[in-house]
Amino acid sequence: MSVVTIERKVLEKNDELARQNRELFNKHGIFVINLVSSPGAGKTSLLEKTLEYLNDKIKVSVIEGDVQTDLDAQRVAKFGVPVVQIVTNGGCHLEARLVQDALAKMDLKGIDLLVIENVGNLVCPAGYDLGEAMKVVIASTTEGDDKPLKYPAMFRNASVLIMNKIDLVPYVNCRLSELKRNALQINPKLIDFETSCTTGFGIKEWSDWLITQSGAAKK
Ligand code: MG
Ligand code: ZN
Repeated sequence: MSVVTIERKVLEKNDELARQNRELFNKHGIFVINLVSSPGAGKTSLLEKTLEYLNDKIKVSVIEGDVQTDLDAQRVAKFGVPVVQIVTNGGCHLEARLVQDALAKMDLKGIDLLVIENVGNLVCPAGYDLGEAMKVVIASTTEGDDKPLKYPAMFRNASVLIMNKIDLVPYVNCRLSELKRNALQINPKLIDFETSCTTGFGIKEWSDWLITQSGAAKK
């Protein structure tokens, strides 16, 4: 029983810090997304394609969460955007406190969009608010079409679903319509995009949506 209590206290503390982060983002008019998926679904690749498209259209900053290494941060930094790396040293999710530490190293003035790339994990990141405006969950076609049914909390707490690697549909056991149907069954409000980082399909549509959201966050 005490385990449950400790867990609740940890989450309450996290929610308070997330609230502080959100207040800061609102103050600066920054649109913030928390990018989540299982490992290998393509978070960093999608981010690279997105940054390439957004280029000088809006000002983007990135917080990279990884269990080890700053390899992803190095990939992102090539696009000339400010990036802060969080290494969790084995931790399987980001917490609001870690994001707060990262924010202390950033200049938030003039930023339109902040992308927080979470640790690859579809379980606990669902329960940790970081202060973001929206969680964006990536489900890739190589993972099959039943991920939403197996990890419902993540799909319930997300606002956006990106179905990635759609170029591989002919070769993998995934029906896109079924993947989307399963996700919408868990969360009918999900906004959905289909993308391929190999062919570039859907990158413009997704990135233009980010520009629109970033504009709306200024008001
Ligand atoms: Mg990554
Ligand atoms: Zn975790």
